[in-house]
Amino acid sequence: MSSTPASASSLASALLRKEVLDLHAYHVPDSFGFIKLDAMENPYPLPLELREEIAAIVGNAAINRYPDPNPAVLKEKIRAMLGLPQGMEVLLGNGSDELIQLLAMALNKTGATMLSVEPSFVMYRMIAIFTGMRYVGVPLLTNSGAADFSLDLPATIAAIEREQPALVFLAYPNNPTGNLFSARDVRQIIAASPGLVVLDEAYYAFASDSFIPNLARYPNLLVMRTFSKLGMAGLRLGFLAGSTAWLGQLEKLRLPYNVGVLTQLVAGKLLAHHEVLLQQAEQIRKDRAWLHQQLSEIPAVRVYPSEANFLLFRVADANAVFNGLKQQGVLIKNLSGGHPMLKDCLRVTVGTRAENEKFIAALRESTIQSA
Ligand code: PMP
Repeated sequence: MSSTPASASSLASALLRKEVLDLHAYHVPDSFGFIKLDAMENPYPLPLELREEIAAIVGNAAINRYPDPNPAVLKEKIRAMLGLPQGMEVLLGNGSDELIQLLAMALNKTGATMLSVEPSFVMYRMIAIFTGMRYVGVPLLTNSGAADFSLDLPATIAAIEREQPALVFLAYPNNPTGNLFSARDVRQIIAASPGLVVLDEAYYAFASDSFIPNLARYPNLLVMRTFSKLGMAGLRLGFLAGSTAWLGQLEKLRLPYNVGVLTQLVAGKLLAHHEVLLQQAEQIRKDRAWLHQQLSEIPAVRVYPSEANFLLFRVADANAVFNGLKQQGVLIKNLSGGHPMLKDCLRVTVGTRAENEKFIAALRESTIQSA
């Protein structure tokens, strides 16, 4: 007795959760052959000597064995780098994306809410949706001149009081806007929050402030960082820092071998040469200032302040400029269409000096053509 087998797609539609069916996957464009200024990567290769040392370490790695489930040495290096006091820990993730997911899973009691600001890092909302958490996004300020994209403190506090979020994410500096929120506002948000507040410091290496020194002051604060923007995007390593009371519990949700053996070894080596990466970050900060100046001199462009390794700017027709740049071999990120507040906005990652110059030349060309 055989009935017609259902097609895989009808089966998938019938069995999958509606939230999953409705979701749009995080889109990563094909960047082959382009000057790649779309993903906030560090553009610099490592010095040859360090690459050779890494090659030797990788060559000797026991890839037939599972990685160390609790890489104590690597964690100690990170702790020391941050100057964490007693009672504070770090929890490692396969990139910080994984940690956002872990936090959502951990705090998602029935009906629990995640709150963030809009526009911000899209994964907060996506992860809330696919873990089944309610999501509330509070708009940042617009039409406020120099204060554009800063926190709307009264609206944020009101939303926190109304929604009682179990989890609040604030990117510090914010992606995709690049600005660093007022520390005073952030402190008020932490104090007003009944739930856990996670400050996502993905761009810490390019910013003038951090909440790590505030960790001991607030029992509901964790700081999340990633090494992706510092030159290790391919390794996938992020961490949460905060009190052992929180991290000891969250640790139970971490999959035992989430950080691979090659990542552990190579990141360990790179952190022992942290100064090389910090010098590269310093160069990126200088080039960000140059790029900001260049963008501000193009009449058809409005560029926003940034404390990250990218710049947000607005043009008359983002799609035309984006495509014009692509035709000239430069790939940046088109944010127009993603969020109403980002209409006609584009985001460019700071590249090498040569890449930045090519980008500016191509942009001048594209804005003239689309005007
Ligand atoms: N947080 C923010 C604010 C980001 O912009 C990003 C990457 N775009 C991440 C977290 C995730 O970084 P990763 O998973 O590479 O550690």
